[in-house]
Amino acid sequence: MAKFEYAPAPESRAVVNIRPSYGLFIGGEFVESTGDSTFKTISPSSEEVLAEITEAGEADIDLAVRAARRAFDGPWGRLSGAERGKYLFRIARILQERAREFAVLETLDNGKPIKESRDVDIPLAAAHFFYHAGWADKLEHAGLSGGSGQPPRPIGVVGQVIPWNFPLLMLSWKIAPALAAGNTVVLKPSKTTPLTALLFAEVCQQADLPAGVVNIITGTGRTGAHLIRHPGVDKIAFTGSTEVGKDIARSIAGTRKRATLELGGKAANIVFDDAAIDQAVEGIVNGIFFNQGHVCCAGSRLLVQENVADDVIMRLKRRLQTLRLGDPMDKNTDVGAINSAAQLARIRELTSVGEAEGATRWSAPCVLPERGFWFAPTIFTGVSQAHRIAQEEIFGPVLSVLTFRTPQEAVAKANNTPYGLSAGIWTEKGSRILWMADQLRAGVVWANTFNRFDPTSPFGGYKESGYGREGGRHGLEGYVTTGATR
Ligand code: NAD
Repeated sequence: MAKFEYAPAPESRAVVNIRPSYGLFIGGEFVESTGDSTFKTISPSSEEVLAEITEAGEADIDLAVRAARRAFDGPWGRLSGAERGKYLFRIARILQERAREFAVLETLDNGKPIKESRDVDIPLAAAHFFYHAGWADKLEHAGLSGGSGQPPRPIGVVGQVIPWNFPLLMLSWKIAPALAAGNTVVLKPSKTTPLTALLFAEVCQQADLPAGVVNIITGTGRTGAHLIRHPGVDKIAFTGSTEVGKDIARSIAGTRKRATLELGGKAANIVFDDAAIDQAVEGIVNGIFFNQGHVCCAGSRLLVQENVADDVIMRLKRRLQTLRLGDPMDKNTDVGAINSAAQLARIRELTSVGEAEGATRWSAPCVLPERGFWFAPTIFTGVSQAHRIAQEEIFGPVLSVLTFRTPQEAVAKANNTPYGLSAGIWTEKGSRILWMADQLRAGVVWANTFNRFDPTSPFGGYKESGYGREGGRHGLEGYVTTGATR
């Protein structure tokens, strides 16, 4: 296939103003930590140091939780739903106004292509605030009373911990519903991607959000663990790996804390022989190479019907040769940088295991930049269900291909992982889509598309992909109670 040559089209970074160092956002202000521990956040595409970030300790977390409690017991708790909604609308509009700034900052800190942060992450983050703003004054009519007849009430102070793959978007999935329902929050972004959360703190100031309603504390996993364990936190909302999710569930067992856990995935993208093959190939590419495969619901296992497998793989390889890997700030880039050296090491380790276990590896021919963290889009064929690359989340641009003959075999293979977050079905037959969707143990099932997100649609997992839902009316359930609040 002819490959077009593109002139460089870099987005300007002049729109962002990154400070040399950042404190913590507690009680409506940026404050210094009580300790002196810091770390650097770097740009994964160049390894350039972007800023010095504070690692919050226990005393800082205590201050943040107390600030959130004061806001909950004070001004925020006294507001009507309609008034809370106004703040959420204001935040949504500011996110739209500052969208370019957020997109550039996200791409610098995360390594994802600017066209994705510009066209997906930031618009969806704003959409989450708009959507939940609309719920704030309608909660009594949302069927959230659980049969008690009592109006739903906020839970209190929510401790929220998020990963690095969609930093601002995961923040909005957490903060928007929590605030709409009347809670206050302490949120910890990932160590490798704190900058858009810190810019969001400025948005809270710009929106005149009452002090303490949103607190942002930066740090490592240790900071997250302290937040989870703090006795003043009423509810935990966590998105991250299944391993850490299990730790969290263990650490809060026996307490009165509630939790929603959004964890890992190993989704099957299932292609039948009657599917529109070129369309399916686009869906496979979007399913696993969008955001470098750093997507919890990525279609990381391709299940393709045996009689079309050779054709699908041939077209897929041809398509992958046209993907442009490189500078994430270039508007023509399709595949950006791997988020961290640690994540790159994990991808390399698991792909070596795939080869050692006998699968056949093919990587798209592309020149990897010398600096930064990079991994070429890669496909493994000849994968069996027992292979680690068919069972474990690689969280990178790596696709494991398996085949099947009958719909029953496709279902059995699709469900044969510890996870159950998402799945995709490609077929012309509506009845087959409905039958498959019914059989698949996955929280989200896409038909003839993949990786489509909308704030109105609940998202969440089965099995080791976690519990609770985010988005839609169901997502609000995790942020209200019909019992007395503390
Ligand atoms: P991670 O579990 O290592 O870290 C997630 C967050 O938890 C980070 O902020 C981290 O600092 C913090 N943390 C680490 N150890 C902790 C502890 N013991 N207690 C409390 N907090 C702790 O995950 P990651 O590498 O940042 O993100 C990738 C993972 O996230 C993947 O497994 C992916 O599937 C998952 N994810 C799930 C969803 C979903 O909605 N289901 C969405 C995005 C990502």
